[in-house]
Amino acid sequence: MRRFFQFCGVILIALIVYSGSTITYADSMPIPLPPSAVPSPTPRPVIVNDGPNHAIIEYGWPAIIKHNNDPFHAYIRFPQGGHPSDEVIYNWAHGLSVSILSEFRAVLNEDPRARGEVNVHFDSFLVDNRYAGILQQGDYSVVFDPLVPPIDVVKTFNIDLPGNTILESNDILDYSQSDRILELLRERMIFEHPNTERSLGFIDESWLHFLVIGHEGIIVVLDKNRLLPEDFPTLTVTLPYEDLGDALLIRGNPPLDTAPVPSPSPTPMPTPMPTAPPDDGQDGQDGQDGQDGQDGSDSPDGDLSTGPSVPPQSGSIDPRAPMIALSFDDGPGYYTNQFLDLLEMYGIRATFCVVGNLVNAHSEALVRAVSLGNEVIGHSWDHKNLAKLSADAVRAQILDTADIIEEVTGTSVMMFRPPYGAISDTMRDVARELGFSILYWSVDPEDWNTDDSEAVYDSVMQQVRDGSIILSHEIYKSTLTAYQRLIPELLSRGFQFVTVSELLTYRVREVLPGHVYYNGHPN
Ligand code: ZN
Repeated sequence: MRRFFQFCGVILIALIVYSGSTITYADSMPIPLPPSAVPSPTPRPVIVNDGPNHAIIEYGWPAIIKHNNDPFHAYIRFPQGGHPSDEVIYNWAHGLSVSILSEFRAVLNEDPRARGEVNVHFDSFLVDNRYAGILQQGDYSVVFDPLVPPIDVVKTFNIDLPGNTILESNDILDYSQSDRILELLRERMIFEHPNTERSLGFIDESWLHFLVIGHEGIIVVLDKNRLLPEDFPTLTVTLPYEDLGDALLIRGNPPLDTAPVPSPSPTPMPTPMPTAPPDDGQDGQDGQDGQDGQDGSDSPDGDLSTGPSVPPQSGSIDPRAPMIALSFDDGPGYYTNQFLDLLEMYGIRATFCVVGNLVNAHSEALVRAVSLGNEVIGHSWDHKNLAKLSADAVRAQILDTADIIEEVTGTSVMMFRPPYGAISDTMRDVARELGFSILYWSVDPEDWNTDDSEAVYDSVMQQVRDGSIILSHEIYKSTLTAYQRLIPELLSRGFQFVTVSELLTYRVREVLPGHVYYNGHPN
């Protein structure tokens, strides 16, 4: 017991030293704030599995921790399933963002050119309606040098849903049979990744550290730089259930008929709150309220059911009257349908800038968006900072996203919005070559950085003018709330709402590939 208290004492001292040094540091130069944390509200399963490059989201609703400002960019996506384990996953994601930010600050202290970036996504598998297997994967970098490769982030979670427990590796596999399991791992490794055979040395239990309960078997994640020689990326190997025999400790019970969780009920989930990071004065919180919008739902939001008091926008656009374009980034997601309900109610349309690897998980909502006259363009495949990528990588990010949008909605895409508004000469060249124009914005209410819908409302109202392109994010409840007030107010002031492409058609003589468009102000 005394040892335990000594341990707590060390942790406490470490925390004091940590927060103390941060405060001193914050006094000396402008330092990025910790990423905003946005746990998602009521979850809903989205069954998607159509290839290795798309996010497979079978369990939970994607929540995002995000930081949008130079010189630190963060985008950490993780599932929240309305389950007690949400807090564990959330705490991991939040802890990751805080620790990388802290590492970045130390580097920035030495080198003012430092640029920090973290991008983490997840796949989640729902197995037997009983187990959720979650694989978080991504990378981060804290330096300016493009020759320094990013560091891989790998984390796995496995949840026994009815049992309300997070499973550890030794709850899944019987380690007293590790010789047999490791033999199987070696065999499957060589089968799935033949090029590793020559490099495979001694394999021990540390290779079974990251396990994911999958559909065909237990997925073993072998993280780069820890287990494999440097030139190998992070790899996965599946140990088939039938080959594991009695070394497998789960799946002894029959599958449940229906999913115990997640459920699409509007009950607010017990959302974990972030523990206070060192200087979290503006740590944005959002999405606390359960809402009933879901993919495919077309019922209007409850508090709008009485209908607008301002008449809807008329069908035709008057080119001489003031017009603005709303643009919503980072979806599709939990709130997409509620944004669509709102736009539909006022007879207006907007431009949705979507993240490619989320498209399949919310395809119905995007089909609906287009059917209502909205525009859908790309916002990269996985929200990486494209300004740091090679020409080939930028090309893939633009084209893959445009292709999936075209595949799902049937509309062709010739424009994209770069994540973080980060633009490079390479990006302009690639865009020109591919025939894409680049979308920026002229009004930024920084809705990602606050849960105060009034602040978003005020910021837009102060900046808006004829020809504005307004940037917002469709992943925040507070943004939705702000637009419930903004749209009728702007309509009553005579603004017409058009898509970005319409605005540019009316206001810019020629939309050119490789050019960046900030607004459609009248000449
Ligand atoms: Zn974004």
